[in-house]
Amino acid sequence: MIIIMGSEVTDAEIGTVVKKLENAGLQANISRGVERTVIGAIGDERKLTPEMFTPLPGVESAMHVTKQYKIVSRESHKQDTVIDIGGIPLGGKQIQIIAGPCSVETQEQMDLSAQFVHAAGCRLMRGGAFKPRTSPYAFQGHGAEGLDMFRKAAAKHNLPIVTELMDARQLDTFLEYDVDVIQIGTRNMQNFDLLKEVGRCNKPVILKRGMSATIAEWLMAAEYIAAGGNHNIIFCERGIRTFETYYRNVLDVTAIPVLKKETHLPVIVDPSHAGGKAWMVASLSQAAIAAGADGLLVEMHPSPCDAWCDADQALTPAELKKLMGTLGAIAGAVGRSI
Ligand code: PEP
Ligand code: MN
Repeated sequence: MIIIMGSEVTDAEIGTVVKKLENAGLQANISRGVERTVIGAIGDERKLTPEMFTPLPGVESAMHVTKQYKIVSRESHKQDTVIDIGGIPLGGKQIQIIAGPCSVETQEQMDLSAQFVHAAGCRLMRGGAFKPRTSPYAFQGHGAEGLDMFRKAAAKHNLPIVTELMDARQLDTFLEYDVDVIQIGTRNMQNFDLLKEVGRCNKPVILKRGMSATIAEWLMAAEYIAAGGNHNIIFCERGIRTFETYYRNVLDVTAIPVLKKETHLPVIVDPSHAGGKAWMVASLSQAAIAAGADGLLVEMHPSPCDAWCDADQALTPAELKKLMGTLGAIAGAVGRSI
């Protein structure tokens, strides 16, 4: 951290800042210039906040110079991390497409979905049993019963399952059903207690970006999980809220190269919740892969018109298959495979 003192700073004011740094276990390096005096903190600055200094007399501003996230940062781990999901690598040369319905509805719907996901060439399946709905009167998901249907359907095709955890009290149930990847949804990205809980298990976690979260906030949310000991974290860009109303969210393609620079962890994209319309999914998927995404999380329903949730954005089985056919060439152009 560096603390910049105002032009009329006194020795006593500098002394107060130095003392505060020393009390926090750090040392001070004082650099007196003609216009400004700058005090540099030497030591582990992560325990400091700018607000510890900005209210002090004579202080003009204070700022961190090192990043607040550590375990998830590329600085701490140069190579790309490849996460093993039941034998399927995510984060390596091969791009993974995770597909399936928004929510688990019936055993038949899940059986058909698993069959179509597998037939399209996808190696992992998604489906929500606990649904975060805007209205408390809307279908909330089948809960544990839904996990059971999902597990049975996916097992027939050896598809690892990805499903959303909304409440730490459900974690044991998730572990009982041996959920392969725990999804933390956009609405819970900064539910720090939930993040701490999933940090204590060793299951891979997909951390979706909060709908209004900055990249720094997202990285810090991942650091919460990592700090608990679970380093199997996958970032998922799913669109952010802006002034635009034509589509559900704005897919922040820029976040993909930025995250790849800032973190060694895999980055995937959810084109379905970004666009909110099935017809946009192919273009957004192609853009995501061209920009360096390690995978996609795509909604597909055996009969989208009958979907209980997010019907507008679900691909048909035929559309998923067609999309898979177009992604190989794009992946190849950026040195990857599908
Ligand atoms: C979902 O994946 O079904 C979902 C609810 O996504 P998000 O948290 O991105 O809205
Ligand atoms: Mn959905």
